[in-house]
Amino acid sequence: MTNIGSYEERIKNFDWSISSSELEYREGDKINIGWYCSDRICKQGKNDKIALYYKGFGGAEKQYTFNDVRLRSNTIGSFLREIGVVNGDRICLFMDRVPELYFSFLGVLKIGAIVQPLFSAFGDESLYVRLENAQTRAIITQKKHLSKVRKIKDELPHLEFIIIIDHKESHELKDREIALDLERRAPVEELEIYPTEAESPSVLHYTSGTTGQPKGVKHVHYSLLSQYLTTKWVLDLQEEDIYWCTADPGWVTGTSYGIIGPWSLGITQCVLDSGFSAQSWYSFIEEYKVTVWYSAPTAIRSLMKAGDDIIKKYDLSSLRHLASVGEPLNSEAVIWSEKNFGKPFHDSFWQTETGSIMISNYPGMKVKPGSMGKPFPGITGTVLDTKTFEPIREPGKIGLIAFKPGWPAMMRTYWNNEEKYREKFVSGWYLTGDKASIDNEGYFWFIGRDDDVINTGGHLVSPFEVESALLEHPSIAESAVVAKPDDINMEVVKAFVTLKPGVDPGPDLELEIMNFIRKKLSSVAMPQEIEFVDQLPKTRSGKIMRRLLHAKEWGEEIGDISTLEND
Ligand code: AMP
Repeated sequence: MTNIGSYEERIKNFDWSISSSELEYREGDKINIGWYCSDRICKQGKNDKIALYYKGFGGAEKQYTFNDVRLRSNTIGSFLREIGVVNGDRICLFMDRVPELYFSFLGVLKIGAIVQPLFSAFGDESLYVRLENAQTRAIITQKKHLSKVRKIKDELPHLEFIIIIDHKESHELKDREIALDLERRAPVEELEIYPTEAESPSVLHYTSGTTGQPKGVKHVHYSLLSQYLTTKWVLDLQEEDIYWCTADPGWVTGTSYGIIGPWSLGITQCVLDSGFSAQSWYSFIEEYKVTVWYSAPTAIRSLMKAGDDIIKKYDLSSLRHLASVGEPLNSEAVIWSEKNFGKPFHDSFWQTETGSIMISNYPGMKVKPGSMGKPFPGITGTVLDTKTFEPIREPGKIGLIAFKPGWPAMMRTYWNNEEKYREKFVSGWYLTGDKASIDNEGYFWFIGRDDDVINTGGHLVSPFEVESALLEHPSIAESAVVAKPDDINMEVVKAFVTLKPGVDPGPDLELEIMNFIRKKLSSVAMPQEIEFVDQLPKTRSGKIMRRLLHAKEWGEEIGDISTLEND
């Protein structure tokens, strides 16, 4: 029996009060995600139930009960309070997927501060723009990432505390740096939870758009109602499950469904903090007897590439439900998983801004390989005509994916950027920036983005950010960045650059520029190819025509080029 039961019945009778009554939350009550994900579960008698199995890079294994999570998050919350952190402060988590990351996430929320999780793979520039925008007051990090923080801290006057979770006494602490050794601190049994309300800010996730700097998506504690119920109905988590969400909490999937959803349901989850290899992933599933697995198409395609024979070496019979998110899940991947695991990956669609799953293939519902499925009960989703913004009634016709605002996890604004936030709404609809069609049975079929944002292996990369970083390289005069097709990642970053007079192109320079971007931004944003050109195509007004370069990469029709300057 699945948690959702009949999708058709659920959409008929849906009300978010299903979620609030299961969470015993009444309108006007205090609501704190940190408390819901640890204290409440312990109060339900699950003190000793395993909350987290962790396997680290070198194979180190640890496990923590819900009571351990409660105590450790209390300890972090109390430590932050002691040093002067108050509700509303932005606290960045800049760590690998170590257990402290998960405890800190809840600890920050428990004292009413706002969590700002960032990928530890970010370079100093990526880190700087996000900390600067959020006016972040404290960062919790590991020694291995400290050099990046040290490089930028003088330009961040708001950053008062740099907290290092694995500091060794022999190591000198510099200005603003504080060591926090969680294992040595006395566990804090009782922490006064800050009385956050439904609309109190909780998580600030940064996401990239086509233009401008990355935007901070502000979520609130009330989002829990969406995250709880979507986890229950889409991922079908049940009491005895061992759940593995492969996403890093630097990305919204890693928080909504890698922390909040499963732990608010009191589910055991496991985390593998190491690089990807088919062997290590399959052996992790075998070792921990993973039952529900939430992953992403790029990982699935990489597993497909590793071949079917390797699968036979592992006992993967524990798996009972598979789901995917982040990029188009091609039908081949769904068919492949059915053949090899005996069950299909169920695609799901949502965004940092939506905070929770919006469209999905539900357990028990017919999966159409290649389709994203149908809107979650209570969600009104459609595709809009690109000119009139009216919902398209005709099956199969492509339009803009849009939702009627009002679900609990919807973002409340972009941090310090109300204008950009307002631009996301038209005629009472929230525009996702994606295109799809809907078939005659109501299934959504993804077409592509409606902007120039590059989705590489599930990570959104702003061409603007990469172009700006390229211009900081001393040899580069102009740059244009587009997506290029790729078998595994679907898209990768490609840069076209013109060089300053007297600079000669060549493979050494290409490598140097790639490295320059990797260090500044991240390995994800690093161009996989750099093409040196004499000039870039521009409109008469001097704007670089990315569209043209994109079309060339994808072998598409070039379309109207009447505004081209240097044809
Ligand atoms: P993010 O905000 O980083 O989670 O990225 C959200 C974007 O990822 C969406 O706007 C889509 O472009 C893409 N995306 C997410 N899920 C899917 C999916 N199931 N199929 C296709 N694209 C997806």
